[in-house]
Amino acid sequence: MTTADGLGAQRVRRLSSLNADRADLYRGPNVIVPPKHLMTTNCSGNSSSNNRLIMNNQPFDEVTSSGEETPQIATPLTPPMVTSADFAFVFDIDGVLLRGGKPIPEAVQAMKYINGENPWGVTVPYVFLTNGGGKTEAERCLDLSRQLELDVHPGQFICGHTPMREMAERYNTVLVVGGEGEKCRIVAEEYGFKNVITPGDIIKTKQDTTPFRKLTEEEYKNSRFVDLENTQIEAVFVFADSRDWAGDQQIIMDTLMTVEGKLNKRSEVYNEGPPCFFSHNDLIWSTSHDYSRIGMGALKTSLEAVYKAVTGKDLNTFAFGKPQMGTFQFATRLLQEWRQKSHDIADPPSTVYFIGDTPESDIRGTNEFNKQSDIDWYSILVKTGVWQEGTIPRYPPRKICDNVYDAIKFAVEREQQKLINHGDTLANIKINQSELKN
Ligand SMILES: [Mg+2]
Repeated sequence: MTTADGLGAQRVRRLSSLNADRADLYRGPNVIVPPKHLMTTNCSGNSSSNNRLIMNNQPFDEVTSSGEETPQIATPLTPPMVTSADFAFVFDIDGVLLRGGKPIPEAVQAMKYINGENPWGVTVPYVFLTNGGGKTEAERCLDLSRQLELDVHPGQFICGHTPMREMAERYNTVLVVGGEGEKCRIVAEEYGFKNVITPGDIIKTKQDTTPFRKLTEEEYKNSRFVDLENTQIEAVFVFADSRDWAGDQQIIMDTLMTVEGKLNKRSEVYNEGPPCFFSHNDLIWSTSHDYSRIGMGALKTSLEAVYKAVTGKDLNTFAFGKPQMGTFQFATRLLQEWRQKSHDIADPPSTVYFIGDTPESDIRGTNEFNKQSDIDWYSILVKTGVWQEGTIPRYPPRKICDNVYDAIKFAVEREQQKLINHGDTLANIKINQSELKN
């Protein structure tokens, strides 16, 4: 179909990652435009002399301005000028870059640093690996782009429920729990689950399911009626943190106590129910509160204990996310794809620096994965999250830093030191450093 202007029915809309809203994500086709500050030239101190170990993959043009000004170097079309092929970063988000939904003061500076604003003008590829969730990856990337003043692409982002995408082929009818309102239904449907039921649907259909929980008008409007006589739930997925532990646990319990998820058929032996998956198992997490708050791992622990108390049977649940090895393998694949796609780097890095705040998930996972990986996965713990002064982490990191800026500076300088130790690059590095001082 062609419109009067000859452009066709669908037009390409230019969106800024700093002001696009959720609705924009679902009206396509779109072009996400990087924020203006990332379109400007970054530190010009990039060292062409380092190019045996640092690849230059983003050329820029030299042009002359139109007026009487002296010739200038044009703003590059894309900001990275020199990208390190040797190392990469993986970031946890809560407690490292954000706290209570707001950026940790050093986070914006840290991201600028690895995007080229450092003494060497080098950019370093990175991805994000969070156990959090509750929104689509695209939506979460827009949030993160605004919060950190940089452009985050879904190809750089793994959240707790991302690996559940692969389960959509196995299960058709699923109970999806957690998150705000009915948002997780949207996530699950986008993943390809065909029939997504939420606790809100069950309460709407049978109000006395949860004696003390009534749906708000908004929740009622967004929920759907369910045929309780003929529905078989094949799996339960806790996508994000529950907003109502009592009601959600009741509905999960009801489902797990059925025969093969048939909602009208209660088991007599209580070990015939569908499987129950959690997107992660973090017992506590860092928020704006002075002390860590209990998280999804606490709900998992609670559910198992209540199930045992009510039925006398053990409940086996499954958790994705960090520190599971599968999540780190997933992150390795994503990082490789991102390096290839955005930086044209084919080879894997020799070192991946993982920066996290939770010893039980971030540090434990990184250290264990390092034992089985060809890449050196280097764990760095920062003190801006669940850290408590005076305590010793149960899973010790290879390095402890005050905050994310100190962590990335430590890693970049460690990599520079490797270059210096490399022998004949020593002179070049020294020249570059002395040039910068002049
Ligand atoms: Mg964290």
